[in-house]
Amino acid sequence: MSDIIIGIDLGTTNSEVAVCIDGKIEIIPMADGSLMLPSVVGISPEGNLIVGHEARNQLALYPDNTVRSIKRKMGSGDSVNLGGHDYLPQEISAMILTTLKNAAEKYLGKPVTKAVITVPAQFNDAQRNATREAGRIAGLDVLRILNEPTAACLAYENNTPDKKKILLAFDLGGGTFDVSLVSIEGDVTEVIASSGDNHLGGDDFDQAIAERLQAELLEKDHGALDRIAEYRLIKAAEQAKMQLSEFAYAQIIENNLVGKNGDSMSLERELSRHEFDELLDPFVAKTVLAVRRCLSDAGVKADAVDDIILVGGSTRSSVFQDMIEREFGRRPHADIQPDLAVAYGAGMMAARLMGEQQHRILVDITPYTFGISCVGELNGQLCHYRFASIIKAGAALPVAREEVFFTIQDNQKSIDVNVFQGENPDARKNTLIGTFSIEDLSEQPAGNKIVMSMKLDLDGLLRCSASEKITGKRKDIVITNALAKLTDDELAKSRERVAKLFADQPPWNPLNSDLDDAEDAEDEDAIAGILADAMDANQDKADTKSAHGRKTADDASDMINTITQLAFRLQKVSQKMPREDLAEANELVQQMKAALNTGDTKAFHAACQELDDLLFYAES
Ligand code: AMP
Repeated sequence: MSDIIIGIDLGTTNSEVAVCIDGKIEIIPMADGSLMLPSVVGISPEGNLIVGHEARNQLALYPDNTVRSIKRKMGSGDSVNLGGHDYLPQEISAMILTTLKNAAEKYLGKPVTKAVITVPAQFNDAQRNATREAGRIAGLDVLRILNEPTAACLAYENNTPDKKKILLAFDLGGGTFDVSLVSIEGDVTEVIASSGDNHLGGDDFDQAIAERLQAELLEKDHGALDRIAEYRLIKAAEQAKMQLSEFAYAQIIENNLVGKNGDSMSLERELSRHEFDELLDPFVAKTVLAVRRCLSDAGVKADAVDDIILVGGSTRSSVFQDMIEREFGRRPHADIQPDLAVAYGAGMMAARLMGEQQHRILVDITPYTFGISCVGELNGQLCHYRFASIIKAGAALPVAREEVFFTIQDNQKSIDVNVFQGENPDARKNTLIGTFSIEDLSEQPAGNKIVMSMKLDLDGLLRCSASEKITGKRKDIVITNALAKLTDDELAKSRERVAKLFADQPPWNPLNSDLDDAEDAEDEDAIAGILADAMDANQDKADTKSAHGRKTADDASDMINTITQLAFRLQKVSQKMPREDLAEANELVQQMKAALNTGDTKAFHAACQELDDLLFYAES
């Protein structure tokens, strides 16, 4: 048998090593069991060389004895100081590679001397040579330097038929962002265009959260934080960011943060996914531009891209997946863990070089989308059967996700939750797989937050829960066999139940009534426009989803709540409103929408007050 060849993703933040065993690509665990090795090297207080988590943990305490992000310096010839000695970047990288090599040898029980190592597509010759050299110093013969986007695409598209495919790899890691178009035809893969930003990634998001937290802390306690407290805030920010990939809210609690003047401060703060998403707006905008630039450089239209592949840990933040869905009109592939995709691809290439027959990397994904019905806009009309997805088709299993919904009535006491499987925005056209209610909600004005969470495991067990955020009151159900294909009989039963469920709930829009003259038809358009505008305003501002109420921004939520409530009221009375009042109402909704977009709360409330008055008369 030929020598074993390992595939290495030598990353800026984390590194991984993969190998092909019996045709299957495996990521090799490190000594501590984790699949990812932080690309951090340090000298411990005892004087030992440490690589990985241990080194990362001492970054704040011993910055002079710790080196991170060495990849940024590869090929530069700039040396770095570690524990009083100067090292070339390739020497530091070699320490990381040696740790990976040792883990592989231990796992395989034999020596390893050959490797494939990945590098960013835009690495120049000096950077590629430095990477080869790092391998050599670590005792590895580097058989192939492979571009990272090519590797990621190989992980998804190995053994593709001869038909040419164009894939877009969207790679957002801790410190760098790359977007590449890769063409694959048989065994030939080529990066046809790439774009990105060498200084954009998850670290920036942590920093943005930490800055907000720090500003709030200092405003209260006056002063400045010491270095360790600053570092702790960054770590807390990263933790919160990671939680928000799954949960709608994250709690940040940090006690005894020491200020520069020696004062101790404490932080207890909730961060909502919405607030986080808003903080990310400027970063998301940069990635959009890079994606468009990459497409235009290659002369490829968005719809000519066969698949979009997520690479890098930061793509777990859903804003990026949503952005891709907006740009391309479809969800990206995320079935292979995005932070392992490059390593898997490096393992694939290593296996090819070994002449091994490799199987496709198989991951369990959900073929279905799961969500609930809610009040929302469908074809310009408000209805009870708008489908709001929570877990989207294609997500790797197990998966968990939370979304926030809002009550629509003051003092709403209960909520019926209908769980559906399907893709149609009209819940009635999807399959009902479970129902439950949450009762005895506390007395709150409309807009009471209800957190819906879904967890789907490999066995098809779908755990759904609804909880009232303010009290924590919660109701759960477990749906077994959520992944099973329903029989015709079950489907028919589901349809029957759905028909019953929404039988007396037509759209809340009187527009379907007979309109016999052209002027009335104009009214119809006017109202439809008002509603569409109101709902669009929701969508634009806060990616809102009307639900048992709607999902809104925390800070914009008051405005959005108000605009949607007024739209509901307008729906109900629009038929009996005089034409000129209707026109005025339309104008006022436009004003509210404009004010919502510019954040002009004063103008918003003025228009809102006027519309409220107008509706009051129409209702009485
Ligand atoms: P990578 O360079 O691919 O290893 O990605 C590292 C970045 O991914 C870091 O900024 C992490 O904080 C970030 N990251 C890892 N897991 C998650 C997650 N679950 N949600 C959001 N970001 C994450």
